Amino acid sequence: MGGGRGGGTHRRTSGPPRPPPDQAGLPAAAGGCFVSGGSAGNLSALVVAHDAARRRRDLPAGARLQVVVSDETHSSVTNTLNIIGAEKIVVPTVDHRFTGDALRAALQADQDPSSIIAVVGTAGSTNAGIIDDLAGIAEVARAHDLWFHVDGAYGGAGLFAPSVRDRFAGIECVDSFVVDPHKWLFAPFDCAALIYRDPRLARSVHTQNGPYLDLVQADDSSAEWNPPDYAYQLTRSACGLPLWFSLAVLGIDAYSAAIESGIALAKAAAELIRTEYTYLEVIREPELSCLVYRRRGWTPQDYRSWSKRLLADQLGFVIPTSWEGEVVSRLAFLYPGTTIEMVREILDSMLEAPA
Ligand SMILES: *Cc1c(COP(=O)(O)O)cnc(C)c1O
Repeated sequence: MGGGRGGGTHRRTSGPPRPPPDQAGLPAAAGGCFVSGGSAGNLSALVVAHDAARRRRDLPAGARLQVVVSDETHSSVTNTLNIIGAEKIVVPTVDHRFTGDALRAALQADQDPSSIIAVVGTAGSTNAGIIDDLAGIAEVARAHDLWFHVDGAYGGAGLFAPSVRDRFAGIECVDSFVVDPHKWLFAPFDCAALIYRDPRLARSVHTQNGPYLDLVQADDSSAEWNPPDYAYQLTRSACGLPLWFSLAVLGIDAYSAAIESGIALAKAAAELIRTEYTYLEVIREPELSCLVYRRRGWTPQDYRSWSKRLLADQLGFVIPTSWEGEVVSRLAFLYPGTTIEMVREILDSMLEAPA
């Protein structure tokens, strides 16, 4: 990753139309680096958001800072805000989705709007794969001069799936964006991609100096892209390399197909539950590749015991989650070789409560 990624249209001979190779629609100058995970990416991005606001608004050191999140935002963002000393404004979601209207209302209600520096949207909640109203949030963020960060650690991979690409409308407006190739882009662990609209802002914050570093630092006139300049992590593995190699060998079409298969399987599993399993109930239509559903009559302990046994029997790794305060089950499909027969086997195993 780096500057100068080409634009241009992408031609292919058959199949549905698909987005150009720059999947998020960011300008060619956008770029960033790989970090260890979504948590490290969220932290690095919001440190830059903080610095950019401090400079633009000439905020004194120690000034109060607030960042708007939703009640579905991932816990790593809360951690980040604790680390950078920012308060969070938690906006209630509408049907689990953070909207531009809710953001506008929260900004209007706040007593100290000049301290609000950024807003965090989620492109694919980890629990149910719900994508926020990114276009609506982007519009309000722009009007209020807020940094717009999108956490797509899990769901950002959906940008490669033409069938859901329109749900990401607004992603092209982000100031920073995180997607974890080690989740739904099939890369080995330790691989999160962090992208900035204007990487110069990140470089001015994260570049480290020191006698032993000066020789390896790129000077401003150099075109060299030095990954540690774009996140808080200095020494790192070449964690982007397996992803790059795999993309180069397999091509983007193979990724699109693999991601589409996860989405299709989640839909098929929902349909299977509705038509064949009276003791199960779909809680929400899947948007991406995870499906939350309940086993009627089960206690939280039933779910936990069943999940343990499923893993011990090497049938599946399906851990309970919570939905609106209730313990339920969640299937998350990543591996494209998973079949509906495997899903059926797992659902069948929920017939009896575990002893
Ligand atoms: C998994 C996840 C994270 C954390 O990513 P790590 O790679 O585990 O650090 C952050 N946000 C979302 C939405 C996630 O799904």
